[in-house]
This record gives sequence, structure tokens and C-alpha cells, in this order.
Amino acid sequence: MPVLYTGSDSAIQGAGVVFARRPAMRLLKHRDGDYFSSQLSVDRSANEGQTAMARFDYDLFTLGAGSGGVAGSRRAASYGVRVGIAEMSRVGGTCVIRGCIPKKLLVYGAHVADEIGDAAGYGWEIGPSRFDWATLIANKDREIDRLNGIYLGLLANTGVTLHETKARLVDRHTIELGDGKRVTAERIMIAVGGYPVLPEIPGVEHAITSNEALDLKELPKRVVIVGGGFIAVEFAGIFNALGSEVTIIIRRDKLLRGFDEDIRSFLGAQLAERGITIKTEAQVTAIAKTADGLHATLDTGEVLRTDQVLIATGRAPNTKGIGLEEVGVTLDRDGAVKVDEWSRTSVDNIFAVGDVTNRINLTPVAIAEARSLAETLYNNNPMRFDPEGVPSAVFSMPPVATVGMTETAARAANHAVDIYRSTFRPMKHTLSGRSEKTMMKLVVSREDDKVLGCHMVGADAAEIVQGLAIALKCGATKKQFDQTVGIHPSAAEEFVTMRDKVPEPVAAPGGSR
Ligand code: NDP
Repeated sequence: MPVLYTGSDSAIQGAGVVFARRPAMRLLKHRDGDYFSSQLSVDRSANEGQTAMARFDYDLFTLGAGSGGVAGSRRAASYGVRVGIAEMSRVGGTCVIRGCIPKKLLVYGAHVADEIGDAAGYGWEIGPSRFDWATLIANKDREIDRLNGIYLGLLANTGVTLHETKARLVDRHTIELGDGKRVTAERIMIAVGGYPVLPEIPGVEHAITSNEALDLKELPKRVVIVGGGFIAVEFAGIFNALGSEVTIIIRRDKLLRGFDEDIRSFLGAQLAERGITIKTEAQVTAIAKTADGLHATLDTGEVLRTDQVLIATGRAPNTKGIGLEEVGVTLDRDGAVKVDEWSRTSVDNIFAVGDVTNRINLTPVAIAEARSLAETLYNNNPMRFDPEGVPSAVFSMPPVATVGMTETAARAANHAVDIYRSTFRPMKHTLSGRSEKTMMKLVVSREDDKVLGCHMVGADAAEIVQGLAIALKCGATKKQFDQTVGIHPSAAEEFVTMRDKVPEPVAAPGGSR
């Protein structure tokens, strides 16, 4: 039998339960420690509602109007609670204003260059073509303005009160806005995201981050990109396709740490094939401004002459200067807000979602975490975001997409695995003459035949792997993949027609795989 808690807010908190102070609720505690709430048949809502009204300006106040903050605030407001939100920059946050969306628009622009290059093989004679970076950026900006307007409208339509200002916590219920005005809230959601980190090297002030890269006045002829993660390889693809000379500097031997090893090697080879230089096991130690542009000095002693140095060495949570630690919110070593699976911080009326918690730093994850929180707090529908099987894509050229376990992770988790891998030249390139190849890989559990991981480098990888993510979420087996009829001719059909296992690697003496 679940244990039932009823009574006042403080009694509930004393019992270790912090959710569902929404009027007319009772809380049930399962033996496994999960909490959920349900409506009380006795309605005490009127009294409790009035008390909350009198005590606080808002039921929920959100810091940060990015993807997570806006989604959670709107969902909460849709259940009739009074929601305020503060944003110091532009509503829409990293993804909409200076991340996923503008980046993808530039990726589309870069792909046009590929299409023009491929056209002759298909009989098209394209006259002299000229690319104008300024036009692409201006058009991108217009689209971002449009989306910003939509986000503003979405907040207004759901009755969320927007404060376009910086906000700082003064105490666990009080927020100070930029003009010194203070507002109070019963609950607070921290959704302030992250910012690009700059390594401490001399001359780093001459470098740019992804923020500036999206707004450059002109396309650089030469670009040095520091880092080998998502942002580095995506911008490498954009600049390379549009005609820049691109050099990536990574401190390890391969790009995209954390991705499947085959994907990492294969992508590196494809980027090199496109003319991108990848300098491995190297670090930039200084950047100097000279008459002929920038000089980036490497720890190998080499000096690279370039027009821009793009630093893409990761992002950090935006937790400085907003009063979190002062009010008792615990941060981790990296400055991220520590939360539990319900997005609760160490202060029981303060919650955090998205990149500021440094869990899985992806827009759809932030949105799902925030909506789950709003459901839990305001809709009697306790939801925890499930971090299993989150797909992701890197919009490099060619793109990468992945869902589930890498081969290394599966083996480390003691799965006996079969590996299926296919590398081929996409049909499209047979006439275009392009040498670019596609690779697909399946990691399959030998114990129960479940597909543990799907990985791909190649055109449309994100579109293909999104569908496979559903299959993995449903626990699909390799047999079910095999029973699925392919769509022909497509690249995607390869995922359901791979029959030959990759031969088992020979174990190193004394080692195991
Ligand atoms: P990532 O964490 O993906 O990559 C950082 C890279 O910088 C790694 O290659 C890392 O190397 C390297 N690095 C870190 N510190 C240093 C240093 N001091 N000197 C040299 N190299 C260093 O960060 P990004 O900035 O690319 O992206 C940030 C996050 O944004 C991503 O993790 C992702 O969550 C999100 N994002 C998602 C996108 C998408 O979904 N398509 C697109 C863009 C961003 P090493 O591997 O050795 O640690």
C-alpha cells in the first residue's frame, strides 16, 4: 500500500515530499520512493489558493526564456497558475537565437554549394555562381527575428508575464529584476542555459565563439577551429563548404569524443576528404593579432596564419551572479545546478532544467525536462524525464546521428554484442562524382537480440535516426529490423538489410572484449 500524506505544506515538506502544493492535492508515496499525487475528493482549493495569492506575486517564476524556460512556463500557465519569466537577452535562448536554428540555416546554405558542385553530373550547366555571406546572414537574422516574435507571442498567449531583464535570487521566494524591482514566487524554475567557455590562453580575446561566428560580417578566407565537439565540426562543415580554408585543432586523436569509435574515425576521414585539415593531439597556446590576420601558435611550435580563430571547447552553465549559492542552491564542480531526477535543487521550492543542470545538453531534452516539471507541479501528473535512448545529431557535412549505446559503452556494460556495419557510396554520388561515403552501424545484444545502438554518418542521418530512435525506445530486436521491409532505393534501407556481422576482434593477450 502506498503511504498517504495529507495536510499542510510544511507537513508535506517535513515528510520529505515537496511536490504538489497545488490546491486540492494529496501526495502518495510508494514503497520504492516514487512520488505521485492525485486529486483529493475533498476540495480545499479555495482557501489554499487565496493564501498563495496573498503571499506571492507569482506561483512560478522562471529565470531564462530559452527552449526549456518557455516550454515549462507555458505548460504551467496552461494549468491556470500565475507565471512570470525573466530574460536578459532575447526570448528564444541559445537554440533559437544563437544556436541550433541559425546554425542549421547556415548548414542549409552550405549544402547549396554541394548541390551546385554535384549539378554537372546530372546534366546541369550552372553559370558562374557567386556566394554572398552577407545575404545569408541577413536572411538568417530575419528568420531569427520572426521566430523571436513567435516566442514572444507564445508567452503572451498563455498569459506568462515577461520581464525583459536580468534576474537574481534574493531569497528562496524573492527575485530581484534588473531595475531593482523585486517580485516573489512560490516556486522558481532556473532555466538560464550555458555560455561558451574560453580557454585561458594569451590573445584569446582575438578569437570568436559560436555566438560571433553566426554574425560575422564576412566569410573568413581561413579559419582555425579549436575543439572537436558538436560546434567545431558543424562550423567546420559550414565554412569549408562555403569556401573557407578550415583547420581543426583537437587535443586528442579523434573528433567527437563520446560518439562511437567507428563514427569518430569515419567522420574524420570524410572531413579530410573534403579538404578540412585536422591537427590531432595539438593545443593552441597563444593567439596574436598581426598585420596579415591572426597567428595561432600550437604547442608543437607550429604557427598557423588565419583570419579567424573559432573557439569551440565546450559550454558552461550560466550560474554566476544570479544568487543561487547565496540562497542555498548547490552547484556541482562545473558550476551546474545539482538536481535530482525530478529537477529539484537542494532548495525545495527551486527547480532547474536544461543546460544549466549539465545533464544532456540538448534542446528537446530541456523542453522535456521543463514540461515534465510543469506536469508534476501543476497537473497532478508526476513525470520524470527519461534520459534513456535520447537520439542526437551533429550537423556536420556529412552529418552524424546516433541513438543508444556505442560499441565501447555496450561492451563496458558487459553486453556480449554483435556488430553490423555497412559503408557505401550513396547512389546520389554515383553521377555527381563526389567520393563521400556513408556509414551505418548497429550494436546488437547477443543475449536478447535487442538493438542497443544505431549510428550513422551520411546524408540525412538525423532524419533517418529519428525514426530508429522510436524502434529502440520500443525495444526492437535485430530480427524485427530484419523483418522490416526497406524503402528502395534509399540509404535508410541499409539499416534493415545488414546481415553480416563484423568479425569479432581478436582479444589482446590477457584482455577481453
Ligand atoms: P563539446 O563538449 O561537444 O566539445 C568540446 C570540445 O572541445 C571537445 O572536443 C573537447 O575535447 C575540446 N576541449 C575542451 N576543452 C579544451 C581545451 N581546454 N583545449 C582544447 N580543446 C578542448 O562542446 P561544444 O562547444 O562543441 O558544444 C557544447 C554543447 O552544445 C554540446 O555538448 C552539445 O550538448 C550542445 N550542442 C548540440 C548540438 C546539436 O545537437 N547538434 C550542436 C551544438 C552544440 P575533448 O574531447 O578532448 O574533451
